[in-house]
Amino acid sequence: MPDLTELVVNLCKRRGFVFPSSEIYGGFRSTYDYGPLGVLLKRNVMDAWWRAMVQERDDIVGIDAAVLMHPRVWEASGHVETFTDPLVDCRNCKERWREDQIEGVCPKCGSSDFTPARAFNLMFKTNVGPVEHEGSIAYLRPETAQGIFVNFLNVVQASRKKPPFGIAQMGKSFRNEITPGNFIFRTREFEQMEMEYFVPPAESSKWFEYWCGERMRWYTDLGIPAGKLRLRDHDADELSHYSVGTADVEFEYPWGWGELEGIAQRTDYDLTRHAEFSGQKLEYFDQASGERYVPYVVEPAGGVGRSMMAFLLAAYDEDEVGGEKRVLLRLDHRLAPIKVAVLPLSKNERLSPTAREVLHVLQPHFMCEYDETQSIGRRYRRQDEAGTPWCVTVDFETLDDRAVTVRDRDTLAQDRVSIDKLVDHLRERLT
Ligand code: ATP
Repeated sequence: MPDLTELVVNLCKRRGFVFPSSEIYGGFRSTYDYGPLGVLLKRNVMDAWWRAMVQERDDIVGIDAAVLMHPRVWEASGHVETFTDPLVDCRNCKERWREDQIEGVCPKCGSSDFTPARAFNLMFKTNVGPVEHEGSIAYLRPETAQGIFVNFLNVVQASRKKPPFGIAQMGKSFRNEITPGNFIFRTREFEQMEMEYFVPPAESSKWFEYWCGERMRWYTDLGIPAGKLRLRDHDADELSHYSVGTADVEFEYPWGWGELEGIAQRTDYDLTRHAEFSGQKLEYFDQASGERYVPYVVEPAGGVGRSMMAFLLAAYDEDEVGGEKRVLLRLDHRLAPIKVAVLPLSKNERLSPTAREVLHVLQPHFMCEYDETQSIGRRYRRQDEAGTPWCVTVDFETLDDRAVTVRDRDTLAQDRVSIDKLVDHLRERLT
């Protein structure tokens, strides 16, 4: 397909998935806003993750920690010292790059004349309180994980979980990326879905393998073709400062393989460091065996924007209906922003009340959209482009037989279903 990225980016803008942030001011440095369809898709991705990681398990609980944390957290975690990228300046065009991303050649002007690399810390600094001074510095968190580690004891005590068990969190993180780009793939403000799984040290490798499998399955279950996914082990020189082994779940984006999610063996690094810096014992005491130990951690850490982008790219399709090109998103039903569109056959005062009645029957159960302007054919196309799995059409026969036509996005099959049975009919068909 010719430039799939461009097709998807255009569709995102046109249909209200993603807008450039502050667009009326010319946009702002690779930041994006999610529009009416995008906010629903994003929420559905996050709900699917929460469902798989928390709701359907009895060994994982959730938290929602603050973005601003005690600055010592980031000293303990190693981020103040080592969360850096190597930054170089092109001496010819003055553009700034991440040295490890450009293979010695300036992507803008082709020059190979660079300043020596210097370490650039990716954390955003801010000040807390009305007076700016050394002691008022705080950071916007660059990962959600630390909010989990510092709450380890609170959660163990409150939830009475014992290893192996996990703590999950979704939320905003911030990194002052040197070269953001590829639409919502790399931005400076983004949302993460992270889970820290605390295990007895000897079981760390076993759980690492387990989570690699589980996380791959999550993406394929939600519709990413297995052939577009791979698991890639990090080379030793790629590993983050806290990891002894990491595998990335990668997706084949149109510009090449890129990371969707990292699964890392963080060992006891974080708990041990926080114990050192805070003076608190961060251990697990097993009452049954009388054993006291610092659990090891296996962490699947994914990004919401990156997976949204992968789901959109994998779902984009074009086919032909009645001799005309049709653009559609074959999104999994669970991810589709709108599940059901209610469409009166035409804008007609006799049809509207019944169509509205159908809408009100469906709204408590499904995210719906009501649309009565333009021809029915064009309204079907709009829903196909939004990835809506079902269109329910109210026509003049409905007024007599109390039945509607249900159209399937993928097969275009049309069923006549009575309004009384509509909720059950759709519910059976949604994944
Ligand atoms: P990369 O190598 O692409 O910079 P990373 O290895 O630094 O990513 P992690 O620290 O493992 O990323 O973060 C976990 C996940 O958070 C990533 O897999 C990705 O989905 C998401 N993520 C990280 N940085 C960004 C970003 N700048 N924009 C969007 N998502 C991000």
